[in-house]
Formats: sequence, C-alpha cells, structure tokens
Amino acid sequence: MSYVFGPVPSRRLGFSLGIDLVPKKVCSLDCIYCQVGSTTKKTITRKEYIPLNPVVEELKKWAYEGGEADVVTMSGNGEPTLNSKIGELLIQIKDITDLPTVVITNGTLLYRDEVRKDLLNADIVLPSLDAVTPNVFRAINRPHRSLDINKIIEGLIKFRDQFRGKYFLEILFCKGINDTERELEALYHAIEKIDPDEIHLNTVVRPPQNKRALPLTMEELERIAKRFGKKTKIIAHFDKEHLSTALQDFEKRVLDYLDRRPATPEDLCLVFGVTNDKLMNFMDKLKDEGKVVERVYDKKLYFQIRE
Ligand code: SF4
Repeated sequence: MSYVFGPVPSRRLGFSLGIDLVPKKVCSLDCIYCQVGSTTKKTITRKEYIPLNPVVEELKKWAYEGGEADVVTMSGNGEPTLNSKIGELLIQIKDITDLPTVVITNGTLLYRDEVRKDLLNADIVLPSLDAVTPNVFRAINRPHRSLDINKIIEGLIKFRDQFRGKYFLEILFCKGINDTERELEALYHAIEKIDPDEIHLNTVVRPPQNKRALPLTMEELERIAKRFGKKTKIIAHFDKEHLSTALQDFEKRVLDYLDRRPATPEDLCLVFGVTNDKLMNFMDKLKDEGKVVERVYDKKLYFQIRE
C-alpha cells in the first residue's frame, strides 16, 4: 500500500508530493462536485485512519532516493484533518525534508481546538468555504449532520488569528447553487471576517460525481473576483492553452528525469503519479518525436533519452 504519491503538477503549489491520510473515501462532507467520488464514510470522528509510521517510512525512502518536489501536501482521497496524527506527521516531516508543508482541507473541523493546534505545524493551509447560509451549505456540501456552518466559519476566523503561515481560502462555485446574489453577499461578509491571504475561485472543470454540479463561465467568475477584491484569484482553468502548458511542463519533468537516469514505466508512474495507460501513451508520443528510446536490460523495459 502506498500513501505517498507524485509529485504531481499543481498550478498553485508547483510540483506537489501528495500524502493520503485517509482511505477513499472518508470525509466530513459529500460535495456534489467531488472528483474522488461519493463519500462512503461520512464522519467527524478523528482517528489514525492511516497509520503514521508507514507514511513516515515512505517519505524517508523518497527523500533518501533523492526525490524532488516543491511542497509536501496532505490531501488525497478525503479530509486529511480527520487523521488524528496529522499534527505529529507535520512535525516529523520537518526532520525529513526542508520542503514547505501544505494542508488542503475542507475546513469543517477547524472549530476544534486540537485540529487548529495540529495545523499550526503546517507552512501553508488551504481551507474551503463554498457556502454561508445553512440551506446552500447542505445543498452543495451535503455535510455530516452534526456540522454547523456558523461554527465552521468561527473556526476559520480563529485559525486565521493563530496561524502565521500562508492561508488561502478556496471557494468552488456551482451554477444556480452558491452563485446567487444572496449567497455571494453572505460569502463576501464571511471572507472579510476570515481575512485570508488570498481568495481562490474555482468551479467544476472535471467530471463531478453529481450531474447537478454545473460550472460557471470564466466571465461569471471574473465578475465575482472583481466583487471580492484585490486578494482574489481565479484558479479554475478550462482552456486548451492551460492544458498544453501543463503537458509541456510534464514533458520537461519527464525528460529532465530521464536525462539523469533511465527509468522503467513503473518508476515513472510512481514518480509522476500517473496511470500506466496514460504514461505509455505519453511515452509513445516522445518516442515518435525521437526524444526517448526504449531499451531492455535484465528482462526489464527502460526508457532513456535519445543521445
Ligand atoms: S471535502 Fe473534498 S474530498 Fe470531501 S467531499 Fe468535498 S471535495 Fe470531496
């Protein structure tokens, strides 16, 4: 079982080495736009869903083997703050690597003292807040029955007061659900109180788990960004230009890696966090373009840079 994946390219974070801290799919919410799939265990109970020791050993191995990334990110298959060892892990990562640590969280547990205390050990925290009024919160995030949106917002405000690292608040918009005039006004006032370093606007750009999750257009996001003020950035990317930049980035990373050492398909899948099918399609393209060649050594297939 592997809990560490990537590094994967991320627009906000550069190359991010991911750590899964809960199995698929343990979460306090069941957002209609979730890309991971439906929540199978909706809970607010914290425990060591994934044990700390194997995660730490995998990270040590990655660092020992010269792994490179821009950040180490707790995210993955559900809500990472549900893992009761996240604070301890954030401390232990500092003994393994100098890379900044990031937590991507739905923010629902930050009302609890012990969760805020745990996350004080991170360098960057990216919580979400998609709705402020209880009905809209229920419609878009389908929360655990005991969660109260007012308490969640209080938690986000308290954490801002305590945390000295970077704090970026993400809002994901679904058409006709959380983009109404009333909700936008309520979000604006909540954000003013939370006072994050940046506000990141997103919408549904990949296949969601529920057909009701429809995207806003870029023009609609731009109007909201203007209204929310200078700290607001649009992080949704729909167009082919972004896709081609991401592909060029990916190609550069693969070629840089192969320039240092030949690698098997399994190595490349592990390092770059892609499936075997996707990788082999991509390597076919690089072979056709004369950038890499195949070589069989000791009955194993390797890719290497064409001299
Ligand atoms: S909080 Fe994240 S993982 Fe949980 S349901 Fe929402 S999008 Fe999915």
